[in-house]
Amino acid sequence: MSDTRALEVLQRVFGYESFRGEQQAIVQQVIDGGDALVLMPTGGGKSLCYQVPALVRPGTGIVVSPLIALMQDQVDALTELGVRAAFLNSTQDWNATREVEQAFLAGELDLLYVAPERLVTDRCLSLLERGRIALFAIDEAHCVSQWGHDFRPEYLQLSMLHEQWPDVPRIALTATATDVTRTEIAQRLALDDARHFIASFDRPNIRYRIVEKNDVRRQLLDFLRTEHAGDAGVVYCLSRSRVEDTAAYLSAQGISALPYHAGLPAPVRAANQSRFLREDGIVMVATIAFGMGIDKPDVRFVAHIDLPKSVEGYYQETGRAGRDGLPANAWLAYGLQDVVQQRRMIDDSPGDDAFRRRLGAQLDAMLGLCETVECRRQRLLAYFGQRITPCGNCDTCLEPPQAWDGTVAAQKVLSAVYRLWKERGQRYGAGHIIDILRGKKNERTAQHGHETLSVFGVGADLSDTAWRSVLRQLLAQGLLTVDTEGYGTLALTEGSRAVLKGERTLMLRRESERAAARNRAATP
Ligand code: ADP
Ligand code: ZN
Repeated sequence: MSDTRALEVLQRVFGYESFRGEQQAIVQQVIDGGDALVLMPTGGGKSLCYQVPALVRPGTGIVVSPLIALMQDQVDALTELGVRAAFLNSTQDWNATREVEQAFLAGELDLLYVAPERLVTDRCLSLLERGRIALFAIDEAHCVSQWGHDFRPEYLQLSMLHEQWPDVPRIALTATATDVTRTEIAQRLALDDARHFIASFDRPNIRYRIVEKNDVRRQLLDFLRTEHAGDAGVVYCLSRSRVEDTAAYLSAQGISALPYHAGLPAPVRAANQSRFLREDGIVMVATIAFGMGIDKPDVRFVAHIDLPKSVEGYYQETGRAGRDGLPANAWLAYGLQDVVQQRRMIDDSPGDDAFRRRLGAQLDAMLGLCETVECRRQRLLAYFGQRITPCGNCDTCLEPPQAWDGTVAAQKVLSAVYRLWKERGQRYGAGHIIDILRGKKNERTAQHGHETLSVFGVGADLSDTAWRSVLRQLLAQGLLTVDTEGYGTLALTEGSRAVLKGERTLMLRRESERAAARNRAATP
């Protein structure tokens, strides 16, 4: 049954004409007292899904959110709309806490944001016992997943909300979308009878592009200057030092770039975040510590200069672009070294084999996306269980790459690795293998007598770039691996044999001539 009160609140309080997508059904489910699990991409409009029912139902809507830094902003925005909102977290002093508690008990709050570590305290639970609760909203619900990088141990305790308040509806929300995460959230939060709402994850206004990395700073600068002069955007890096180096480099080039990572003092982080939100055209250079919960509609691009660790993370990060629905770019530069580095990081990571296997599978999916000759968006959405036709707004749709038979090239690489190991007991990294294949005489090839190897010079027909691409794809497909005992040296895998013996043909991706030319032009 549709409820006119919901629409009335939407229009009167929030000033919007109509609900978007599944919002109406979700809001109705919660108003009627049912549980809901909501999967919606960033920018999809999750907040209204609990804010509207909190205003329609009697009592206060309790919102559990890990994003302490944003609570003040959220409450300010609601207050401006005339909604009675407050928060409880560790940034408040005793007086402020008391005031909020009193307001809640007096029934003077529509919405109360609570940090999870605060919620699970005895003081807070007993406070909630004494007031009237309209609903529980569990925001960023994927924080309950022990596999994700946003894991918050207190989230595991949130299943007790249902035991203690069986009649209060719960709504869990996340922008993380795989089936695995969804099942995990439902299980750990005991959302047995919840209706699942899975919004479309397609963000058609975002143009996806993945380019081969050669001189990544230069490529990034070129991308910013030619396509995003004066635009706000985020550049994601894997490490803190890379964040700082890149931010300094861009600043020196006259771009308003600011760094953001967990190692910076809290006031610096807060100041940079606030400038990004309030000023025009700030480029935030950041680790993945930046972005969750940031509501800035006009982020025109998200660039990755290191390979993300999973498709899920990549999708969430790129989803921060173009929330206003206008055209935006997701740009990723990736190269051979990324694959080498990440395979090593996985091997070196703490945790058991199952954990490492899971990381490995996530990386493989990400590599699959990078090396696909099909529509990027098709690949991305397939990962989230959604099928679409080719999108017409990604690099492979716009400038189709060629698929070429790389079987012979792959055999040359694999036999070079094989012979070095078998005949000489040596392992090398990609650079030297390519030198051998191309027959480049240098100090190292001379010193080790590599010029007498039968594979020396057998690959003179392809360029360095082409060979790097072949090696990268072999690594991506697990037909070659990084030997972590050494220093990123290459070794054969179980799968190599079939290729070496000619039992398997290997189709590889080659970027379009235009894309390749653009990449070359970016290199000084
Ligand atoms: P999410 O939390 O899913 O990332 P938000 O709740 O922050 O998304 O909403 C994203 C933007 O969309 C906000 O600016 C919000 O005001 C706007 N929005 C949400 N729902 C509607 C609607 N029904 N009509 C118009 N704008 C909406
Ligand atoms: Zn496409």
